[in-house]
Amino acid sequence: MHTLILSHADVVRLLPMATCIDLMADALAAASRGDAVLPLRQVMRLPNSPNAFGLMPALLGDALGAKIITVFPDNASTPYESHIGVVLYFETTNGQLRAIIDASSITAIRTAAASGLATQLLANKDASDLALLGGGVQALTHLEAMMCARRLKRVRVWSRSAERRAEFIRQAKQRLNVEAEESASPQDAVRDADLICTVTASREPVLQGEWIRDGAHINAVGASQPTSRELDSAAVVRSRMFVDRRESARNEAGDFLAPRKEGAITDDHILGEIGELVAGTIDGRRSERDVTLFKSLGLAVEDVACAAYLYKRAISEGAGQRIAIGGMRDGAH
Ligand code: NDP
Repeated sequence: MHTLILSHADVVRLLPMATCIDLMADALAAASRGDAVLPLRQVMRLPNSPNAFGLMPALLGDALGAKIITVFPDNASTPYESHIGVVLYFETTNGQLRAIIDASSITAIRTAAASGLATQLLANKDASDLALLGGGVQALTHLEAMMCARRLKRVRVWSRSAERRAEFIRQAKQRLNVEAEESASPQDAVRDADLICTVTASREPVLQGEWIRDGAHINAVGASQPTSRELDSAAVVRSRMFVDRRESARNEAGDFLAPRKEGAITDDHILGEIGELVAGTIDGRRSERDVTLFKSLGLAVEDVACAAYLYKRAISEGAGQRIAIGGMRDGAH
């Protein structure tokens, strides 16, 4: 029995953003229909640090898998990514381990792809002025996803450190041929923006409701635990809010839980899931002046959908490396 190993470079080559947006549409629609087994993720906090270890299992069709990942937010100022780990992909006839795949790259691409999908479904058709709050890994893949979703005319980025803003601008030019502008404050970045992505590791709001123009669409991505938020309550209150999964949002989303605790919103403020928008069973945007919000937490079905696709594509192209890891009763390979 052989297991395929796919590296960061393999994933980047084999999983284009536009393809991943389609994969996210299918995976999120399946999850919303109840056609997936998707327990809440387990997050083990490391003592006396902001660091965490996450276990994210899912079954999607006949694809079984789990992402196992460290989340070390302070890695932003080191050569290491903030999210490091693997996605394990199994088949469901004999339970064989088919692939071990780099998780940093899958996470970077699939998270942005889910936001790209939400933007396709919720943003005004002529939205073209993008503000990115945060300038790290997710900022760059979100720029690419927003380019897939809408025709961009202006891109502004804010990050606390001038070095990170400059590095983002350099990478946007080099990798995506985009001339991004730097903003000195989040308020400057979002002024007149009709697409806003919050992709910071902040635990406190970086986006205020009073700064957001009518008609904007927001992808709120960076805060994925109950005690962190990137949006103030006013931003959430004025938005038509959609999530990747209700159960996850009610358990894990500080951007939802904090305003609910203040009494500013109730559970009903979540109008639906992206998968329901894909299926057309709920309304998204109702007018050009609506502010729409996608609160992303990231789901294991997204990782497993990518892993299943990557495995099939890598096999057909002869990509990756194979190892005999075990699992045969007689010890044979
Ligand atoms: P990076 O480490 O690459 O970038 C982090 C960004 O956050 C940098 O721009 C950093 O820049 C900024 N930042 C860090 N601390 C703060 C702070 N206190 N206030 C404001 N900005 C801050 O991380 P990623 O791009 O990989 O991830 C970004 C966020 O998205 C993380 O919180 C991550 O956990 C989350 N995430 C969410 C996923 C989902 O599915 N929803 C999936 C993957 C990641 P600077 O220091 O210059 O401000």
